[in-house]
Amino acid sequence: MVTKEIVQRVEFLRRELDRLNYEYYVLNSPTVDDFVYDRLMSELAELEKQNPGLQSPESPTVRVGSDITKEFVQVRHKYPVLSLSNTYSKEEIGEFDARIRKETGMDSIEYVCELKFDGTAICLTYKNGILAQAVTRGDGEQGDDVTSNVRTIRSVPLKLRGTDYPEEFEIRGEVLMPLSSFKRLNCEREEKNQTLFANPRNAAAGTLKMQDSAEVAKRGLDCCLYFILGENLPFDTHFDNLQKAASWGFKISPNMRKCRSIDDIFNFLDHWDTERKNLPYDTDGAVIKVNSLALQRETGLRAKSPRWAVAYKFKAEQAYTPLLSIDYQVGRTGAVTPVANLQPVQLAGTTVKRASLHNAEQIELHDIRLGDTVIVEKGGEIIPKIVGVDKTKRPENSEPLVYATVCPVCGTELVKLAGEAKHYCPNDSGCPPQILGKIEHFVSRRAMNIEGIGEETADLMFEEHLIHNIADIYDLTKDRIVRLERMGSRSADNIIEGIVRSKEVPFPRVLFALGIRYVGETTAKKIALAFRSLDAIRNASYEDLLQVDEVGERIAQSIIRYFSDSSNIAIIERLKAAGLKFEIETGDNEILSDSLLGKTVVVSGNFSRPRDELKQLIERHGGKNSSGVTSNTDFLIAGDKTGPAKLQKAEKLGIKIISENEFLQMINEPL
Ligand code: NAD
Repeated sequence: MVTKEIVQRVEFLRRELDRLNYEYYVLNSPTVDDFVYDRLMSELAELEKQNPGLQSPESPTVRVGSDITKEFVQVRHKYPVLSLSNTYSKEEIGEFDARIRKETGMDSIEYVCELKFDGTAICLTYKNGILAQAVTRGDGEQGDDVTSNVRTIRSVPLKLRGTDYPEEFEIRGEVLMPLSSFKRLNCEREEKNQTLFANPRNAAAGTLKMQDSAEVAKRGLDCCLYFILGENLPFDTHFDNLQKAASWGFKISPNMRKCRSIDDIFNFLDHWDTERKNLPYDTDGAVIKVNSLALQRETGLRAKSPRWAVAYKFKAEQAYTPLLSIDYQVGRTGAVTPVANLQPVQLAGTTVKRASLHNAEQIELHDIRLGDTVIVEKGGEIIPKIVGVDKTKRPENSEPLVYATVCPVCGTELVKLAGEAKHYCPNDSGCPPQILGKIEHFVSRRAMNIEGIGEETADLMFEEHLIHNIADIYDLTKDRIVRLERMGSRSADNIIEGIVRSKEVPFPRVLFALGIRYVGETTAKKIALAFRSLDAIRNASYEDLLQVDEVGERIAQSIIRYFSDSSNIAIIERLKAAGLKFEIETGDNEILSDSLLGKTVVVSGNFSRPRDELKQLIERHGGKNSSGVTSNTDFLIAGDKTGPAKLQKAEKLGIKIISENEFLQMINEPL
């Protein structure tokens, strides 16, 4: 009988899976592990199987997760693009083989075993040997046309070699980000204070959906093809067709194997379970496909996956250990993170004692309780995470976990904002870890850049009650600073000098330094340029704020909230009195536009005007000067006698080289 609990659970699972699909495919920012997602999906599939009345064509069990976004033109697929059924169990691979043999009436089947690349699917159409279109999987029926971005991937041939390819065909594969490109990209993002990509898959999928193909070209994507479709394919086996495609110039994995028995398949799986760690890109499993196209047609398709293929997923290393207690940590922004204290356990060569529990929703999702034996996993990330609970070991009297209701540090009642996973302590002007975080942020290099006050010194000053908030920094005297432990007279002088120099920091950075929640470096610049003074921002209405590029409801609300707190106003008044810049300056340093915001520019050679004038223009239009050409450089302005090494490097890295006049046109300055 279908009980109310079953209906509720099915509804809950569908809602959760829809949300997780959106986070994974559209935002490219998953909040749970694949293993967790797969378990929720199989729980839903099982409930639907046991209760056929609850089946629905809208259920995530029968629809592929959609990656469609509004920014691209949608194109209908000629052949539907499906997902793959997957398993973590070898036993089920045996069952797959038994089913195929039974359905085809054959004693043994030839399979092709391949690596399952962890990127994002792409469908390429070639007409007369020329790349005509590249489309994402989308919802399986139609996808986003990302042809201009795919054209920048060097391993995708724009024109095929030879002449023996079909007049028109489709070839599908995976767009990947090699680990080396991924590391480089995240380093660059860290330097620019941008959010890091969680893994190469998200980075590849996010990059493929960028609006600027020139930016895509810089990110080092790769593409490996694994399936070809069309009317006049040269061979009647999957393997031979792919080998042929390699001769036309496609990148085909060298690690495909034909396997004739289940033992052959298991050998392939065992070999790659360890060997894959030496590959230059991520793989999350292997795919086993029937080789004969005739047999593929005979076995057919399900709603969401072909019946002639199955994916075997490699499992991340896991350990089981009791959950002893939970600490709630409060960060700079007041966000509360629950951290599990575990009975120490060995995992992938290290002892694990603590693991992140992310947020209350995650705890509820897995129904994690104190005393539970939890499953800890270590993926590519440094911090281990809890991915589930071994419910067979649950103590009898266990109770669902009651999440913290007040801040563990200052006792203020926690709040949860709509659309956000974490709880917050709203006491941002009185909660010590938040104040300390604000001070650390204020003095940091990208904000006020107060040399001499690093994180450690800021912590010490706070602990020793020398400073209680950011305004106190400007009341510091050398006498008081030297009294700190291990502080010499020279260091104290440096700090005082750094504080004095910080009064020259331009207004956009001062605004960023205030640490208003959600107002990052770029947003601060945009807001500062739009309103030109702090007073104007303070007096701006919610609607005025929304007019600024990149300012959405969340940021606008946060700014209004910040200025409605009298303690923030008191701090601002003191900072003003101390002489900080609270408006855009007119004169030589006036900021003229944000047309070069986020761009790093190298100027080299002789020009019609002094080089320093060009450099100043770069800054006044929001850009950053850099002396050397690196992969971070956006363009090189080259004049007479530009250093040949710089030119060569820019050419090698594919960095745009422009003339003085082109640059001036770019920023709308008179030539
Ligand atoms: P999938 O990734 O499990 O398998 C299908 C995909 O595998 C294909 O679209 C193709 O792009 C890729 N693939 C790579 N190598 C291949 C090869 N050699 N041959 C054929 N295909 C190959 O399926 P999916 O529908 O894209 O995604 C579902 C999976 O994604 C889930 O099982 C889950 O692990 C993960 N997911 C996770 C979350 C999350 O929140 N963590 C959310 C949604 C999906």
